[in-house]
Amino acid sequence: MTAPSTDDRVLSTLNRDGSRHWIHPKLSHGRFLRRRQVVGYALIALFVALPLIEIEGQPALLIDLVSRELVAFGAVWKPTDGFVLMWLGLTIALTVFLVTALFGRVWCGWGCPQSVYLEHVFRPIERWLEGSPGQQRALDARGGLHPRRVAKWLIYAALSFALANVFLAYFVGAARLRLWVLESPLDHPVGFSAVMVVSALMLFDFAYFREQTCIVACPYGRLQSALIDRQSLVIGYDRRRGEPRGKPARKLAVLPEAREGREGTDPPATGDCIDCGACVVTCPTGIDIRDGIQMECIGCAQCIDACDAVMDKLARPRGLVGYTSQDRLAGKQRRLLRARTVLYPAALAIVGSLLVWSVADRAAATVWVERVDRTPFIELPDGRVAAQARLQIENETAAVRYYTVDLLPIAGGALRIPQERWRVEPQRRATVPLFVELPRAAFVGGVRVVQVRVTGDDGFRHDLAVALLGPSAGAAAAPPAAPAAEGAP
Ligand code: SF4
Ligand code: SF4
Repeated sequence: MTAPSTDDRVLSTLNRDGSRHWIHPKLSHGRFLRRRQVVGYALIALFVALPLIEIEGQPALLIDLVSRELVAFGAVWKPTDGFVLMWLGLTIALTVFLVTALFGRVWCGWGCPQSVYLEHVFRPIERWLEGSPGQQRALDARGGLHPRRVAKWLIYAALSFALANVFLAYFVGAARLRLWVLESPLDHPVGFSAVMVVSALMLFDFAYFREQTCIVACPYGRLQSALIDRQSLVIGYDRRRGEPRGKPARKLAVLPEAREGREGTDPPATGDCIDCGACVVTCPTGIDIRDGIQMECIGCAQCIDACDAVMDKLARPRGLVGYTSQDRLAGKQRRLLRARTVLYPAALAIVGSLLVWSVADRAAATVWVERVDRTPFIELPDGRVAAQARLQIENETAAVRYYTVDLLPIAGGALRIPQERWRVEPQRRATVPLFVELPRAAFVGGVRVVQVRVTGDDGFRHDLAVALLGPSAGAAAAPPAAPAAEGAP
């Protein structure tokens, strides 16, 4: 076999005449494919399970766009948890920077849902139904509706519909999604349309657009050159060992750098690359790894497996194509300690600590006072005043909680509330009407501030000031304008 020429293309997937160069990569079995399959199928199980399994009555992961909440592993985060969300976002960003600086595009090849679904679900079905890359190309050339291709598209459509449901479950929740899918589209026209549109986009992506998503659409791929350095782990071809490429029988002069370490021995006629093209025909983005580090490389390691198999047959050491770094390819030592691998972990430690601290410091409940616009007080027959306020208690935990409300001591004051304990469901709130009886003289300028304590059965305790409205000195029962209440959101 000889390496296929890429001279007739301007990009790995674009021919000179502007048409798309369709890629039908040959599957290369080997140690990295086996590991990627284990990781890939485990990830697929995880991707599907996360929005479906429940932890303390909530989905394990839900980015609830309707309620503007993030539910993650039993905890619920709202836009009001600004600091937590900010530290969380920074922690994720710094983790991406660090992982990329250390391991290059390992996420793209091993963990990204695009690669995982395409390489471990859609392409295997294509190979099963349409055969080898050569047979697939024959079907391309033939055109028309071959039964095998029709069957493939039908299976793809069903899979896309299933994946669209999994995807949407992350944003609207499995329960709401079930209604959208199982009930009449007329009852949920928007939801049903969303399912159909996302299904169509999935089908477009996995059946047609494929590697273009990684090459032209994914911003992470474009950021690579800024995020990696010459020491980052990449997949590369060892030119010093491989060149000049060619059949072993050919007598060619070796490159000067390829002679290094071989002085005193008979120079080999060629380098170790026999120009068989196995690493090229297996590449899902259509590039030739021997051309150097390229943006299109998603780090799938298929070229390593392909080349290792060739080296095994030739009884030569593996690793002509392998995990390496740009500096190692240039003959330099690998350095773990460098600016990125020191600064990123340091920043990550600081931001991660702030995240942990802000999560630990997060209140188990939110309490605030609401205005009572109508009849904020009444004058009792005994001359005292019963002032009214409305307390809101929001349970921020993932469990049912019980709360009590008490009035902190105040001369002549007494609290009347309809019940002693207030049951509040997780992530829900209770409205507690307060009636505070006070002597008329307690009000100055028509206002009296009292202290109220809210206590939860989980140890939560919060004291807050409540401004009560009452009669102005010498005034009749007409209430003054309501002041702002403490803690009102
Ligand atoms: S690098 Fe390996 S797989 Fe690629 S052409 Fe050379 S020998 Fe073949
Ligand atoms: S060059 Fe190798 S690692 Fe990169 S995308 Fe192609 S086959 Fe995968």
